[in-house]
Amino acid sequence: MSRKIWLDGKIVDEAEAKISVFDHGLLYGDGIFEGIRFYEGRVFRLPGHIERLYQSARVLLLKMPWTPEEICQATLETIRANGLRDGYIRLVVTRGVGDLGLNPYLCPTPSMFIIASGISLYPEELYEKGLEVVTCSTRRPTPASLSPQVKSLNYLNNVMAKIEALKAGAKEGLMLNEQGYVAECTGDNVFIVKKGEVLTPPVSDGSLDGITRQVIFELCAELGTTIREASLTRYDLYTADESFLTGTAAETIPMVKLDNREIGDGIPGPVSLRLIEAFQKLVRSEGTEVGVS
Ligand code: PMP
Repeated sequence: MSRKIWLDGKIVDEAEAKISVFDHGLLYGDGIFEGIRFYEGRVFRLPGHIERLYQSARVLLLKMPWTPEEICQATLETIRANGLRDGYIRLVVTRGVGDLGLNPYLCPTPSMFIIASGISLYPEELYEKGLEVVTCSTRRPTPASLSPQVKSLNYLNNVMAKIEALKAGAKEGLMLNEQGYVAECTGDNVFIVKKGEVLTPPVSDGSLDGITRQVIFELCAELGTTIREASLTRYDLYTADESFLTGTAAETIPMVKLDNREIGDGIPGPVSLRLIEAFQKLVRSEGTEVGVS
């Protein structure tokens, strides 16, 4: 079945959803995006995702021609048009059509499109067995260049790291910052459990401020599990009792091996499993109603 795409205010068939070759999103990666999940007819943390989209836009001086409420409604409309109850939304805003040459001021109108689709990032069995990850040599860019907190269309850095991981036979790659501290994985935030405490790098070490990451902080508070931010090195990961990754697409998944070394006992640990279970329950118990068309 052909997917229905929301493109600049209209729902169109996938085949008609086209962007100009002069769009600076394509020519220069000049644009931003969000990845959002919906479960059982409810969109998880929609306001948080839209807020982050606006923050990314603010940093890039990308003038959004839609209000947050309009984007929220467009997102729900796209899900309804595709008749989906569970899935993933990709919301993309590009600088729009301009001339050849970087000047963004020559692009008068940004474009926005919304895709609603199914997604399965990793094979189901890995959610039970855990994921093997390798450290990539590609580093996260420093905040002095492009802030890793901007969810921009410039993901080449992550793509290069992903290629390294895949070539090494792993499904995900760990990325360090310029100083050698752990930043995140190519599309997920990283957590370890050590002596009963949950630790994750501060965003200032080079990661995206993940919405799922924020949820883990909330769940730890609810479950009475200590959690704090700490700069981590690979030493900390190699000697951790447990580890897991979080992301909208990946959800929460145990990481059981790094660089061919077992983390803890090499199986998903009890603290990770408790958090993953609480996460799966939470995502099905709240959210913005998609509604019926
Ligand atoms: N880091 C990067 C680089 C990402 O692209 C993402 C989103 N896929 C994440 C972390 C996780 O963020 P979130 O939980 O908001 O999806």
